[in-house]
Amino acid sequence: MLCLKCEQKEALRYSEKCADCENKDLGFLWVAVIALAILVISIVFQLIQTINLSVMLMNYSYYYLFIPVIFEFVGLSLLLALAIYTCKLFWQRNKKLPLIFIILVVSNLIFYLLDLAITSYIYEIKIDSSLLPWFIKSFAFTIFWSCYFLISEKAKKVFIN
Ligand SMILES: [Zn+2]
Repeated sequence: MLCLKCEQKEALRYSEKCADCENKDLGFLWVAVIALAILVISIVFQLIQTINLSVMLMNYSYYYLFIPVIFEFVGLSLLLALAIYTCKLFWQRNKKLPLIFIILVVSNLIFYLLDLAITSYIYEIKIDSSLLPWFIKSFAFTIFWSCYFLISEKAKKVFIN
């Protein structure tokens, strides 16, 4: 069957359009692009904050105060590398993108939970219900994108390389 849009190339299986036309029309995947961009920007922003904090902590000689900072620095650097790799896979329309996107959002959530646990333990900050909206937002973000990439037919058609 020929592509219904350009009527030149062979349509993909389970689609009326060819690979090129599916690629041009990303549809809801644009929202994933925006979510990915926001994630990259927020990781960079937090890395800068972590570096600022470590400069501030230089005045203190308590080495254990640096544990959360070192954890954040390493964790955020790894997350940033993974996020940039995800952008690259997206650009290439790589088959691995859905899986790597899910790994990115899940490891992002795990990192923040671990970071919260370590920070509250070392700095003796109590975790209270004021964090609840943040928890709900983070869980919803992770679950939403994981489910989307697991079930999306559109993602299966676009990421074929
Ligand atoms: Zn076409």
